[in-house]
Amino acid sequence: MAVAIYPGSFDPLTNGHLSIIQRGLKVFDRLVVAVLNNPKKTPMFSVEERRALIRETCPDPRVEVDDFQGLLVHYTRRKGVHLVLRGLRAASDFEYEFQLANMNRKLDPEFESVFMMTGQDSFYISSQLVREVASLGGDVEGLVPPTVFRKLRERFPRK
Ligand code: ADP
Repeated sequence: MAVAIYPGSFDPLTNGHLSIIQRGLKVFDRLVVAVLNNPKKTPMFSVEERRALIRETCPDPRVEVDDFQGLLVHYTRRKGVHLVLRGLRAASDFEYEFQLANMNRKLDPEFESVFMMTGQDSFYISSQLVREVASLGGDVEGLVPPTVFRKLRERFPRK
């Protein structure tokens, strides 16, 4: 059974993430979407909210939703899954991901990363931009799944 972990902040889940999850499910039998719980950062949505939004958007039983703190390699070891799925949007993502993949492999020689290129329709979508646009009253419909859209609307009524 081919299993991969898809880690990220998912603050919030976007259609870019969703596309990677959907395409990942064509390649892997199961995906663990792992929400990073970083106590050094103040997220827009709590870990529980982020997890709930992913669960609601991806009810597929082949998707497990989990969260982790600390080093990714410690988490992958605990899970016994050494394959990590990541999405690539642009050259800037590549540089960062290249460093990260090599650092993780240095920390755990069993660690492996698999990358998927984002599609035309979501290469410009990031959680950070979605947070910024939504918090300023902009329309993020079509950039995030409907569940996330409704949650953002509740928090930031459109101007
Ligand atoms: P963001 O960079 O949007 O804050 P995360 O830290 O949650 O997102 O990223 C988790 C993973 O999802 C990373 O591998 C990131 O490159 C990927 N990802 C994020 N947005 C997209 C997108 N629009 N298309 C493809 N992959 C994406």
